[in-house]
Amino acid sequence: MKLLLLGAPGSGKGTLSEYLISKHNFAHVSTGNIFRKVIDENLEYADELKSYILKGLLVPNDLTNKIVKQELGELTKKYTNIVMDGYPRTIEQAEFLKNIFTIDKVIYLNVDSDLLVKRLTGRRMCNKCKKIYNIYFSPPKKDGVCDNDGELLFQRKDDDLSIIQERIQTYNQTTFLLIDYYKDKGNLIEVDGALSTEELHEKINSILR
Ligand code: ADP
Repeated sequence: MKLLLLGAPGSGKGTLSEYLISKHNFAHVSTGNIFRKVIDENLEYADELKSYILKGLLVPNDLTNKIVKQELGELTKKYTNIVMDGYPRTIEQAEFLKNIFTIDKVIYLNVDSDLLVKRLTGRRMCNKCKKIYNIYFSPPKKDGVCDNDGELLFQRKDDDLSIIQERIQTYNQTTFLLIDYYKDKGNLIEVDGALSTEELHEKINSILR
């Protein structure tokens, strides 16, 4: 199954991806994670990526598409279940993807904008196992420390209120258009992104059946 997760920043795409990876053997393609790795390791394009991400702007399509094509080329050889998280984000990216990869279902996580801000400002992550916490809704057992491996949790640099507002605006102006794009193609499934974890998992399991 090839899934695409669509939704605003903070809608729960990353958390749902964690579930798909651990319980349903999905390979994960997250452009955000790929970009952060390039920046952390100071690889080619690191400065260019930073200049967009820290302003809450989209990375240009050409660069994003090139990186995704390379990643997908490797993963499709090894995995049958693949989840795309945060890509595509523009119609141009969607058209590019259409030529190299067939998506079975698009899950659109719909979340109210007030909740998005709280989820993003409260988000903390483990760099080692990638588990995502939220200090308001799903805190770790011990403040600032990952339950799984005891690593110190970190806050993403772009989870700063002014950048969050820009990211939500970028989403509303550009990525939001993909909802109609995939609706027209007939494979979009809208899911309430404010469901409890159990309810969400049940819903996703029924979609995967
Ligand atoms: P979120 O969905 O919470 O905004 P991501 O980790 O998916 O977080 O993305 C972080 C940032 O990386 C985005 O704000 C954007 O600057 C950049 N980015 C991620 N995916 C794309 C994409 N498909 N196209 C352009 N820029 C992207």
